[in-house]
Order: sequence, then structure tokens, then C-alpha cells
Amino acid sequence: MHDLVIRGGKIVDGTGDDAFIGDVAIKGGIIVEIANHAKGETAGAAARDIDADGLLITPGWVDIHTHYDAQATWDPYLTPSSWHGVTTCVMGNCGVGFAPAKPDEREVLIDLMEGVEDIPGAALTEGMEWSWETFPEYLDALEAKPHAIDFGCQVPHGAVRTYVMGERGVANEDATAGDIAAMAKIVREGLEAGAMGFSTSRTSIHKSKSGEHVPGTYAAMDEVFGIGSALNQAGAGVFQMAIEHHEADDNFPWMKKLAQETGRPVLFNLVQPDKAPDKWRDMLKLLEEAGEENIPIYGQTAGRPVGLLFNWQASVHPFMLCATWQAMKELPWEEKYKKLKEPATRRAMCDDDVHFWDDFVNMMMVGHHKMFPLGEEQDYEPSAEMSVEGLSKTTGQDPREIAYDALMRDNGEGIIYFPLFNYTHGDLNVLHELIMHPRTGLSLSDGGAHCATIADGSIPTFMITHWTRDRTRGEKISLEKMVRMQTHDTARLFSLNDRGVLAPGYRADVNVIDYDKLKLGRAHLAWDLPTGAKRYVQRAEGYVATVVAGVPIYENGVETGALPGKLLRGAQATPMKQAAE
Ligand SMILES: [Zn+2]
Repeated sequence: MHDLVIRGGKIVDGTGDDAFIGDVAIKGGIIVEIANHAKGETAGAAARDIDADGLLITPGWVDIHTHYDAQATWDPYLTPSSWHGVTTCVMGNCGVGFAPAKPDEREVLIDLMEGVEDIPGAALTEGMEWSWETFPEYLDALEAKPHAIDFGCQVPHGAVRTYVMGERGVANEDATAGDIAAMAKIVREGLEAGAMGFSTSRTSIHKSKSGEHVPGTYAAMDEVFGIGSALNQAGAGVFQMAIEHHEADDNFPWMKKLAQETGRPVLFNLVQPDKAPDKWRDMLKLLEEAGEENIPIYGQTAGRPVGLLFNWQASVHPFMLCATWQAMKELPWEEKYKKLKEPATRRAMCDDDVHFWDDFVNMMMVGHHKMFPLGEEQDYEPSAEMSVEGLSKTTGQDPREIAYDALMRDNGEGIIYFPLFNYTHGDLNVLHELIMHPRTGLSLSDGGAHCATIADGSIPTFMITHWTRDRTRGEKISLEKMVRMQTHDTARLFSLNDRGVLAPGYRADVNVIDYDKLKLGRAHLAWDLPTGAKRYVQRAEGYVATVVAGVPIYENGVETGALPGKLLRGAQATPMKQAAE
């Protein structure tokens, strides 16, 4: 007798093979049988059946770029990811995290996370119990708490450098040979305790709240390779990094050498920045060459533009540097809203001189060609006419007024979508090439981070709705291919070889989806973090059930209360019974 059988659904099994109608039978948290109806097979009796007639059955999504390092201590559901069918996530990306940490360094790490990832510091201070000092103790603390989904952690450079070098580390001074040896030792201990890898930031965009770059941003090559040797010695883990996007090709030679010398996967964030809009082509070529030499280096690509969401109460909006706004920014929202409704405030803000010293800031304030008011239907691939600039051309209205009025919609809760990266040419065709490339991996949803700036934790749902079903402005991607990309392929990048495929012996992490009805909810701000701190939330409709280790954790969008998830300690072995790979 099986524990659970999901019956009669369209099975897209994560291998990329054609879908078929059948049953998925589960026992003891493992898939024990896949029955193909066309071959006359049916799964035997079970304690419980889920009727999947007319529905899609897929492996649970594996999201490898999240930042739940703090949230995992207070939120068993790791939302928004689990709302979007994610059953395994990897956190500790981009060099930021909370272990190791001495008690007097906690503030520094919180400051860093708040600045780099826009996770409210108060929520971090209040939400975390800090019952650890070392990285292995941190893993133990996480493991002791119940979770709905599986997750793995990476050792963050920022924390390691701060731990070993103290203020010198935070100030990005050069590491001595002794510092490097100490850091490598900590990383190795972390890997041996089950870390999924090591992460670092080398981009000037990532700054702590007090304006310092992430410790390690300017780490010299002896430090990078010294730490890399720990991965080599442990024979485990990936080396993940956020790099300066427009200088990605300059960095490629040493990143490639690092992958070659350590023999471990090197993953770097690969996006199309407006500043260097064609560099991605060079990068794909370099990745191909490395692939031909069997060197394990991969680009991490987002499934849609990194989408800033402007809103009066968000972290960023195009009027935030106006003198008029600055004068009212400390007021409670009700009073602010009252003022915003006054024609005089609107006039003053639209007339304010808004050209700034910094290109990047300037683009966000007056880049009207990249501002798209989000309507009821959330269009993540809008055409140029839908931009504030486009609307201004059609109507003759001042673009500042159009932006202002868009934010005033819905009682002052209107949202403007600002595709920061991957949208230079105004569509997702570049992204299509990037994500289809064999040397890239789907990533960069940033679940748990950039709380009041973006809501890309919903990307796994978007990959299905937009790329396989709704896209009208270019090529689509087959459902079979897309499912494989965010299950099998992402899992394999981290050697999670026991999941991402629906086949006997594999973990029973499964999504049951009403494909026709699958839909992203509206992104909106909520004040649901510890201390009532804010974040964007965006849910989805159409996930009929999400199953982790054979146990439904959500049914029709409602939590079941079951918490079968666990901390992943390192690579996971390929099941013996491998029928489908
Ligand atoms: Zn990140």
C-alpha cells in the first residue's frame, strides 16, 4: 500500500522528456512508481489519492539563489518561495549571511544584510535568536527548527572575513597569509558540516547600510584562491559570486582558472546591464569555450528582468530624492498620502530638479523609458509604448506626472515596474538566449531579499506562465524544457542528485498544478516581517498541491501544517533505482 498516489495527471518529469498521462506513487517520502497510462499501467492502492485529472504533475522547483539566512530561523515556510512551488532552495548567496559571527559582530552583519539585500534590520535583530557562533553551529540551529521545504546554506565571505579579520576585514583591507589560512579553515569546516558552497560579492552595487562594500569585495587573488583551495580539499561545494556585471569578461580568466584549479563549480551572476548591453554575448562565448575544456564554470541567469517595484512606501521610487519628498518622508503614511493627494505637492515634486550625480541613481529617478506602470494584469514584458516615456509621447503629458499618477493609483499603492537588468532592448529576447544556453543555470530569484524593492521570489511561477504559455513577443520555451531547467538542472548544479526528477527512488517533492489557471497574484507591500517590517509579497493561484518528501505542505494555496522539510547537508547521492536519467 502506497502512502500517496497522485493520479491521472500530465506528468512532466524533469528530464525534459515528453509529458505523458499517469500516476506518481509515493511511499516513505520517496517516489516508488511512475505509472504511464498509455502503457496500460496504473499505480496500486494508497492511503491517500490526489486526483490530478486535467492537472500537471512536476517535480518541486529547486531555487538556487535565495537569501533566507535569517528568515529560516523564524519562518518555517520560507515565503515567498514555497508559495511558488519551490521545495528546495539554496541560500547564503552573494557573500552575505550570519555565520560565523562573534556576538559583537552581529550588528555589522545585520547592517550588511540590510544594505545589500534590503532586509529590514529591525526584523533581523528581532527575528533571530543568534544561538550560534560558528558556521557548523548555525547549521545545527537551523536544523533544530521545523521547516516546510528543504534548504541548503553556503558559507558567506562577508561573515568569514569579518570573523577572522575584524575591522580590517570590514574595511576591505588586504588579508595576510595567516588570515587567508584561517578563512580557508573555516570554509572547509563549513563544507564538512554540510555547507553547499562558499559565496562572495565582487560588485560595487552591494553596500552595507553604512555604505561599506561587502567584506571581501576587493579580496586579492591569493585570498580568493586560498579559500578556493578549501573547496578543492573538501572535494565539495560551489564557489558562487556576484560580480561587477559590466566587467564580467575582465573577471572571466581568473574565475575560469579558479574552476579549473579547484575542480568545483564556479557560478557567477550573469545579467545584461544597460551599461554594457552586448557583453552577455562575449560571456556566453567564454562559457562555451570553458565548457569545451570541461571546466565547471556557469552563469547564473534570472528568468525575467531584475524588476524593481516602485511604490510610495517601497525602498525606491522616482521621487524619493525630491526636496518635497525629503521634507515629508518621516511622516506616517496616512499623513503622507494626504499630502500626496494635494495638487500643490504633485506640482512641486514634478517640477523638482531631479538630475543626480550618479548614473545609476539618475536612471532610477528619470529613466522614464524603463518605468512601466503595473496594471491589474502584471505584464513583465511590456512594450515601449507602455512605458512612462511611451505614454508621454502618446498623450503629450509630462512623464513625471504620469509616474506620479501611476503611484497614486489604488489609494496610493500603485506600482511602477522598473526592469533594472535584462531589458535594454525592451523585450526578453536576450534573456531567452541567456536562459536557453547550456552553460547557464536559472537563478537570481533572490527569495527573501530586496524585500521592499523587488518581488522576484515569484520567478519560478513566472517561468511556467510566461515562458511556456503566455509569451507573445517572441519565442516560448517548451513546458518539458522549462520544468527540467528549474528542477533537474538547478539541482544538479549543487549536486542535489536525489531530486528534481519524477522517477522511482527520487525524493517525492512534487507540484500538482492547474496549468491553465496558474497565475501570479499582484505584488503588494505587506508588513508581515518581525516587528511589522515591510516586504513585497506576491502569491500565485493554480498550485493545487505542493508535496515535500511525500507530504502535502500546501493544498490549493493553503498551508496544511505539515513541516517535512529539512536542512540539506552537502551533496545528495543519486538514487540507486534510477529509471529516468
Ligand atoms: Zn543575491
